[in-house]
This record gives sequence, C-alpha cells and structure tokens, in this order.
Amino acid sequence: MTLSTLANSIAESPTIRLNEEARLLRERGEAVIHLGIGEPKNRAPMTAILAAASKLSTGEIKYSPTDGLPSLKKAIIRYTEENYDKVVAPENVIVSAGAKQSIYNILYTILNPQDEVLILAPYWVSYPEMVKMCYGVPVVVTPEDGTFYPRFEDIERKVTSSTKAIIINSPNNPSGVIFGDEFLAKIVDFCERKGIYMIMDDIYHKLVFDGRHPTPAYKFTTKDVENTKIIVVNGVAKLYGMTGFRIGWAVANRQIVRVMTNVQSQVTTCTSPFLQTAAEGALTGLQSIVENLRLAIQNNRDVMMQELKSFTGIKCVKPEGTFYCLPDFRAYKSDSVALSDFLLKRAFVVTVPGKEFGIEGHLRLSFAGSVKDVTEGIARIKWALDPNSPNEIYIGDKKMIRDWM
Ligand code: PMP
Repeated sequence: MTLSTLANSIAESPTIRLNEEARLLRERGEAVIHLGIGEPKNRAPMTAILAAASKLSTGEIKYSPTDGLPSLKKAIIRYTEENYDKVVAPENVIVSAGAKQSIYNILYTILNPQDEVLILAPYWVSYPEMVKMCYGVPVVVTPEDGTFYPRFEDIERKVTSSTKAIIINSPNNPSGVIFGDEFLAKIVDFCERKGIYMIMDDIYHKLVFDGRHPTPAYKFTTKDVENTKIIVVNGVAKLYGMTGFRIGWAVANRQIVRVMTNVQSQVTTCTSPFLQTAAEGALTGLQSIVENLRLAIQNNRDVMMQELKSFTGIKCVKPEGTFYCLPDFRAYKSDSVALSDFLLKRAFVVTVPGKEFGIEGHLRLSFAGSVKDVTEGIARIKWALDPNSPNEIYIGDKKMIRDWM
C-alpha cells in the first residue's frame, strides 16, 4: 500500500505525543508531573458552561453557518473592537475548530505550491508542518544574536520573490517573550510595502505579566482591514482555559474569509454550534476570569523563576507572557530530545525538547499547572541532573536513589 509522500512526511505533534506518553505512564500508576502541557487547570467559565448546557438542552444541535454562528461572530467583532480598536464586519470573521484550524485554513487559502512562509525560531511546533501540508516551504529565521527576539535584519535577509507570509506569535510559545513595538512596526511596514501577509497568532495576547500589554499589529498600519496585510488569529483556548472546546477564529479581509469559508465548508461544514455557544458565553460573560487566570499564571511564573535560579548552570529568560519558559540546559546536555526522554524515564517529568521548536539545547517547561507541579517538577529535574542536589528523592510514595552520576 502506498501513501502520500507529503502526508507521510508530516511529523507527529511532539506535544500531543508527549501528552499521550504521560497519560500511559499515569495509567501504569507512575506519579507523572506534566511540565509539557499547554493548558491551564481552571474550570471553563460558568457563563460558557451555562450557555452550552442551555443550548444542549434544546436538543436542537444542527449545522451552523460555515463561518460561525452570527451571535458568536458579533461577540468576536465586539472583542476585536475592544481589544484591537478595530472595527470589522461579519464578513471579516471566520470561526474555526481552534486557532490551529484557523492558521491552517489561512495558509491553505493564501499559499501556492512552493510559496515561502517565514517562521521565527523559536517557533510553535505546528507552523512548519502546516506550511508543508499546504505545499508551501517553511523558511526558519533564527536570531543571529542568540536571543529569543527576532531581528528585522535577519528576517529581511531571508525574504525572496517567493515569500508569501510571515507568522508572528507574540507573546511567544515557547520562549514567553513579547516582541518589541519597534520590531513590529518595522515588520508591518515591510509586509505592507512588499505585499507579504503577516499572520498574527495572538492566542496568548492577554496572558501577559508585570503590567505589559503587547501592542496589536493593527496599531502600526493606517490601512483598514480590507487593505492591510495583517491577519489576526485568536481563540478561547488559552484566554479562558477552554482548550477542549476547540473554538478559534481569524479576522482578515473579505476575500480571504470568503475563500477560507469555502475551504472550511468542504472540510468540516462548521464547528459544533454547541461549542460555539460556549465560546460566546465566555466572550460575553464576566471577564474577571481572564484576569484571575493571568494572575495565577504570573504567580506560577515567579515560582518557576525562583526554582530555576537555584539550579546550577541553568540560564532562563524571564517570560513576559504565555505559560512557558525555555531554559538553556546545555550545561547538562545539548541533545534536548535525549534530555527530555531521560527526565521522563528517570524523574517522570514531562518536558518538551527545544529541538522541536527549532532551538537545540533548551527544554520548554510549562507553568500552566499548579505551584506544586512547578516546585516538585523542578526538584525532580534537579535531582536527576545536578550532582549538588541530594541523591535521594520521593517520587509519589517511592524512594528513588540517583545512581547514574
Ligand atoms: N498557536 C499557538 C502559538 C499555540 O501555542 C496554540 C496551542 N498550543 C495554538 C495556536 C492552537 O490553539 P487552539 O487550541 O485554539 O487550536
């Protein structure tokens, strides 16, 4: 049996693979700590649950329009106005099964075979694979100064006549940094002059710390939504901790949204109206839940930084947003895949290898879970790697002795 060469070349999502490995270990009774996961532990907002429950109880769960329920689109339009100071029409909005599907559908809509898409390392694991799935070519730009902040010069150097788009994710998964205004302004200007689409993955835009507020890319253009090259992606997954509801959206010009809608109509018809109603409930309900989540995550970030500070040889850039950090573990091991595997097998801690994000020698650690997960997870990693740490530890109710140093 032969398979598509392209489909066969697409890598499994490493984060999803690690989730599955953790689940299997837990099923075996191991006390796994998941510092790999990208989802907060909060309950979904009550307004989302009640809205969905009330919709479900009607028993009338039928197809919705492909581009989303008009009432949800209305809530997204209001969200765009309030948070981006941008007035858009229903024809500029499409609801998808998560921000992930929005990004894929955008790429499918704008790319011709061999078109290039600039991706800034460290990057979210799915971008390169999604570009390849649309017959495009991912072009990775790595900051030459070794920081997590992309530099305009490095990007400009990678632009060719085939460059169709650039994907920007700030606050950034996996580094947690927020890109500067000067950088964004330069990219917006460059993209508008060159006719390159700028896909803003804003999924973490409210999960920001220390009073920081990322400036929306729209602020740097004078063009309206029909004429700008900026496309904005967002969703309820990270904002409200509603990862399993699978509702995201894109805001773009009418032509892009029309083609995305046709594509989506052939692939999924629509996202579940029951879940769209939940997203609407979250967007129109009490917004203090977002601030509470942000404060809890910021506290977790502080705990994570404190724990890492006492870890000999580990360097870590302090995250300004998201729920991830990307410490440099090269003092212990440069091969991040082998290191992550070692930590899972020996210490039952899930981490994600930096290699998957285009940055070797680092591990992505999530602080989306509890403070206990963070402190215990880092204590276990220290025990497994740092010869200065005590060589005995309890993992669950098992006393473990380090015998590999
Ligand atoms: N973009 C980034 C940068 C992400 O980290 C994620 C989720 N891990 C997504 C998009 C996808 O979000 P959703 O769950 O809404 O598909």
